[in-house]
Parts: sequence; structure tokens; C-alpha cells
Amino acid sequence: MKIHLNGKLVERGEAVVSVFDHGLLYGDGVFEGIRTYNGRVFKLDEHLARLEESGKAIMLAMPISREEMKNAVLDTLRANGLKDAYIRLVVTRGEGDLGLDPRKCHGKGTLIIITDKISLYPEEHYRNGLEVVTVATRRNLPEAVSPKIKSLNYLNNILAKIEANNAGVLEAIMLSADGWVAECTGDNIFIVRKGQLITPPTYIGALDGITRATVMDLAKKNGIPCTEALFTRYDVFNADECFLTGTAAEVIPVSKVDSRPIGTGKPGPITLKLVEAYKALTRSEGVAI
Ligand code: PMP
Repeated sequence: MKIHLNGKLVERGEAVVSVFDHGLLYGDGVFEGIRTYNGRVFKLDEHLARLEESGKAIMLAMPISREEMKNAVLDTLRANGLKDAYIRLVVTRGEGDLGLDPRKCHGKGTLIIITDKISLYPEEHYRNGLEVVTVATRRNLPEAVSPKIKSLNYLNNILAKIEANNAGVLEAIMLSADGWVAECTGDNIFIVRKGQLITPPTYIGALDGITRATVMDLAKKNGIPCTEALFTRYDVFNADECFLTGTAAEVIPVSKVDSRPIGTGKPGPITLKLVEAYKALTRSEGVAI
């Protein structure tokens, strides 16, 4: 497996960074998870734009231009002969000294591009729905760090994931400090109520998900009303349908939340329509490798 590391394609064993890298020492960096479908990279520009914006928010300039980044991603995919892949793009503040001051970092930062086979939720959950739980770990305060920054600080999400693991389910719903539904550990959340989609606004503590935006767009095109609004666990329990969105997960129905079946307990008609519409879109567009 070839990895892109700071402008070079190297073997996995040689893809190593300094123990003084501020990405490792302080989680000081940003990242993206991108997918390819049948030889095409889905929403590449949107992901690169979000990476740049996350970087801008933490005053971390991208080490290479958008066009160079695009070519580096495509070259890495070609070098590994991958048509259906998951891409992990990481940009850290780079090597510095001990001490968190970013001015201690010299150089242009560390750029890592890993392309690998995708590991997905088991297929049965797309047919029958996924069981999830709400966890005690609250989403980071959006007033402290913007949830729009896709940074290397994922400890909040990892703590929630550990709770999901302990509960024997694959994903967890995280609430804001005030108890509003925010998002999941690696996915955004939607509920359906009386034919209308509702998803939490990003300011409550949700990533501005690219799949979330794509689904909102697909809903519009299919005449399904969609709003961003605050809601609670109660609203999830009493929703007609619920589903999660994410680059890796795509659109996945939720069958049960905290042991309460959602709607009929089976994926609902609006969810299934969006699952299909999303699948069709992934097959019809993207940047050719
Ligand atoms: N929320 C979090 C916390 C995430 O890490 C992700 C991405 N894995 C998402 C939501 C979904 O975002 P996207 O649709 O852009 O993959």
C-alpha cells in the first residue's frame, strides 16, 4: 500500500511522522474522509473546501494548492489501483518543539493521504435499520471549538463511541450540553415527522456534513420539506423515521433508539427513498481517477 507523505509516495512501513509533530502532540491539525465510487471521487471539491476552511479557522494554511491537493489524491488512488476506496486526508501543523505554541512549528506542515478499502456498517443494517443509543458524553461546547472545524481532536467522539461499544451498538447519539440532539460520533442525524425532514443546526454542535448537505439537496429535489431545528430525545423516540448520514455510512436507517422502536421499527418510506437517491447520485457523478 502506497501512502502520500509530504509530496512523496512511500510504502506503509515508511509512512512515519516525527514524534514532535504537533498533530500527534496536541491534535493540532485537520482532516477529511472522502469516498470513491467505481473510479470516481465523490464530492472531492466540497471535501477539499471544508479542509481548507477548517485549516483557515485554526490558522493552518494548506501546504499545497487546491489543484495540487486534487492531483495528489488522484495520484495516490492510481498508485494503489483503487476504484472503490476510502480516502483519509490529514494536514497537521507539522514538526515543532515541545510546547503548544504553533510558532514552534517549522516547515509547511505534514500532509498525509491514505487510500484504503472501505469498511462499512454490515449490509443487514441498511435493510433492517441500525440500533443506536444516546450516551452520557455530551458534545463539545460549540462556544469553545466550532463543530465546523474537522480537527484531529476526536476524543469527545471517541468517548461516545466507547459508550456505544459498551452498550453493544454501532453508533451513539450525542446531545449538546443543554440536552438537544446534536449528532452521532461520526455521522449526522435526521428525523422524519409528518413527511418533513428535521436535522439539528450545526451551531448546536454538529459537523457541517457533506452527506447531510447532499441529502438536504436531494430532499428538495424530491419535494420533501427539510428544516434545521432543535429537537430532543423525546422527538427522536416519537419520530416516524430516523436516519444517519456520513461519507462512510452514506444514508443509514435507524430502527431503535434507547430500546424504543422508531416508527414501525423498520426503515420508513422517506428514508428508503433518500437511501436510493443518494446511491444513484454516487453512481452518477464524481471526479474521474
Ligand atoms: N459528524 C462527525 C462528527 C463526523 O466525523 C462526520 C464524518 N465522519 C460526520 C458527522 C459526517 O460528515 P460527512 O457527511 O461530511 O462525512
